[in-house]
Amino acid sequence: MNATIIVVEDEKPISTLIQYNLEKEGFKVHISENGEDGLTFIKKNNPDLVLLDWMLPDLSGIEICNQIKKDSKLKSIPVIMLTAKAEESDKIRGFETGADDYVTKPFSTKELNLRIRALLKRVKPSLTEDIVIFKDIKIDRLARRVYRGGKEIKLGPTEYNLLNFFIKNPKRVYSREQLLNHVWGNDIYVETRTVDVHIRRLRKAINIDNQCDLIRTVRSVGYSIDG
Ligand code: CA
Repeated sequence: MNATIIVVEDEKPISTLIQYNLEKEGFKVHISENGEDGLTFIKKNNPDLVLLDWMLPDLSGIEICNQIKKDSKLKSIPVIMLTAKAEESDKIRGFETGADDYVTKPFSTKELNLRIRALLKRVKPSLTEDIVIFKDIKIDRLARRVYRGGKEIKLGPTEYNLLNFFIKNPKRVYSREQLLNHVWGNDIYVETRTVDVHIRRLRKAINIDNQCDLIRTVRSVGYSIDG
């Protein structure tokens, strides 16, 4: 599944285990070891899901969840709280802060995976569906095929990933840096102008036969799929 998950967790053995397992499932994973870093990453990168530990060295999980859910730009991001067993009453407060789900430590990675998938399916169907449609574009994710107006379009792997990413949140504008993080992954060093090169290729490939341009360039901000 092509989704970015941030894990805000100060206990290294836990975050390492979570990262290993989620990456194996095909997720892109970012770890933050404290609340401040976590919030900064969330505001900057708008991940698809937040896994939030309850007890953190600086901000508490509740506080972070509150900030996400109060922010009109961030509140749609689903949040799963990780709580320790002894914090039973905290679970309830977790729901009051707007957390979408919670998982009690110790948890099995299998359970965590299932919860994440179920939540993403519920709140972001465009992430999990095999066939996604935007305007006259259709992506068949199982076959990795793209169609516009019923006609198949051949895309290179990066252009495919870009389109697949845009279509998850149509009309949302992403900066070149955000596109690099989400589509290329933040471990790989690529210059931001590489993004422009691939956007150009994607545009050329999907805007065939004088169809309207579905890629919008927002000057000095970035790109979105729109039209
Ligand atoms: Ca902790």
